[in-house]
Amino acid sequence: MYLFRLIYYSLSTIQAQEGSLQQELKTILLASQRNNPPLGVSGALAFNYNYFAQVLEGDRKAVTNTFCKIAKDPRHSDIVILDASPISERMFESWNMAFVGGSVSENQLRRYCTSSQFHPEKMTAVSLLRFMRDVIESSQNSLKSVKVS
Ligand code: FAD
Repeated sequence: MYLFRLIYYSLSTIQAQEGSLQQELKTILLASQRNNPPLGVSGALAFNYNYFAQVLEGDRKAVTNTFCKIAKDPRHSDIVILDASPISERMFESWNMAFVGGSVSENQLRRYCTSSQFHPEKMTAVSLLRFMRDVIESSQNSLKSVKVS
């Protein structure tokens, strides 16, 4: 297996209504739970009303195939790949897809996003990875699903 990590961000096309976002996120979470484990793909997904940012880890063919499917999804557009590289170990091993959002503090946003908003286009692959890892580690929320302001 060639262990690989791909990091991208995109613009959300989901209608800016609380209900629509939650409903679509639920569908995405269910698809991730259904499809990622059999492929050995793990990762994390950060989102707010404007952006998605996702880390996919696993065998490079499985990660590539998963990304190609996600890239065709009309719920987002303008995808920018920040990094796609071989890795020696996973950062999100125990997550078929960790959701990063609501329990994010302004401190965490300022530390990694250099603003009080989640703006992945202003972040590097490294700062995005650290941001996701920090939020997941500091979150006591067992729902694994939260929204970034
Ligand atoms: P679907 O069309 O959802 O389903 C295919 C078949 O599976 C259906 O015909 C049905 O028989 C069966 N099925 C559907 N729902 C269920 C169910 N609840 N229970 C049992 N059987 C069912 N997708 C991922 O897989 N992994 C990701 O990490 C991921 N990340 C995403 C990130 C973003 C930002 C976005 C916008 C989307 C993401 N998606 C992800 C969703 C992805 O784009 C596809 O919509 C999704 O993978 C399609 O799932 P599917 O191939 O199972 O097809």
